[in-house]
Amino acid sequence: MNKIKQLVFRFLEKGEGQTLKYRSIYVVCTLIHGFLIFLFSHIGIPEMVTFNIFSVIFYVVGIITAKTATRTPVWIVLIYSEIVAHAILCNIYLDWSYGFALYSLMVIPISYYLAHSHPKIRNSTRFCTILAAINISVMTVTGFLFSGNTAEYDASISSLISSFNFIVSAIVITIFSVIYVYEIKETMGDLSSKNDELNFLAVYDPLTKLRNRHHITEVFAEYEKNTKPFCVILGDIDDFKRINDTYSHDCGDKVLVTISEIIRKNVSDKGVVCRWGGEEILLVVSGKNEECFDLAERIRLEIQNQQMSFGIKQINVTMTFGFADYSEAMNIEKLISIADKRLYEGKRNGKNQIVCK
Ligand code: GH3
Ligand code: MG
Ligand code: MG
Repeated sequence: MNKIKQLVFRFLEKGEGQTLKYRSIYVVCTLIHGFLIFLFSHIGIPEMVTFNIFSVIFYVVGIITAKTATRTPVWIVLIYSEIVAHAILCNIYLDWSYGFALYSLMVIPISYYLAHSHPKIRNSTRFCTILAAINISVMTVTGFLFSGNTAEYDASISSLISSFNFIVSAIVITIFSVIYVYEIKETMGDLSSKNDELNFLAVYDPLTKLRNRHHITEVFAEYEKNTKPFCVILGDIDDFKRINDTYSHDCGDKVLVTISEIIRKNVSDKGVVCRWGGEEILLVVSGKNEECFDLAERIRLEIQNQQMSFGIKQINVTMTFGFADYSEAMNIEKLISIADKRLYEGKRNGKNQIVCK
């Protein structure tokens, strides 16, 4: 079953996969027309034998040139025309009852499928509807004009032909329906994972996986409404530019990710952590002043003591924090600006510290 799935997915691939898809169609058509040469020579319709010989040549050319031929939509028109022309001739030399009209019916959904996945066809629906309209018109007209105009064949031969036509067209339609369903499933899967990605980016920062600055404003509103105590802590990595300049930007990214993990782990469900700017991280933590300060101090020490390795290099980093308590202002924007001033005071005073006054 897995092998079948793999084959179906190869059909769905773009580029080379398209070649496989078209080449398989040409092979199946060659086999069908090969059988029809035998059939028409057996029942004695030389015109149909000649047509089918040309059909086989056409599809063999298709097999050989599949790689380049699939790049142009002309091939869809050619295959379509060949199938409909064959069905029209069968209307003329035989009759509707032999079931050749089923091929012109079968080609309608297949053409929509092929044209839709063709990179060069812009308006595939209009393209295929025009083809379908021509197909239906000429089939109906020739069906009416030539019905009953044909020689009678042995009942066993006519039922063999109509059964063959029914089975082949039913199998082909089934195969294309399966492929179509897989293609829809694959597209839905792609869309759903892209949607998850977008939902994540709307809330989180892709590098640190912390909340992003845009999203955090919604969180502020909840804290402001709440009467419970909370603190705002703004942290900034010390001498981060030097880390980038000395060890590379990738190393800087790794440091940023490690520090974010330390902070997120310590804050856990006590509050929210957000990437405020480049190497600035904002914490909004529920709890009284002392509890929040202890938490910030634990974070500061863990960062200071964390040995980060980048290749053979061992790196130590520190972080400075500005601390503001909710009692100083019930407005988060205001608290952030207080924390920001204290953070830069901490920078001026030698870094690696928490400033809360
Ligand atoms: P201070 O101790 O005063 O904070 O000095 P600093 O070097 O940390 O501060 P400065 O503002 O001079 O430099 C911050 C640097 O952070 C500059 C910027 O290139 C870098 N930076 C910002 N965002 C990122 C990021 O996502 N990844 C990396 N690797 N670097 C970043
Ligand atoms: Mg810094
Ligand atoms: Mg900074």
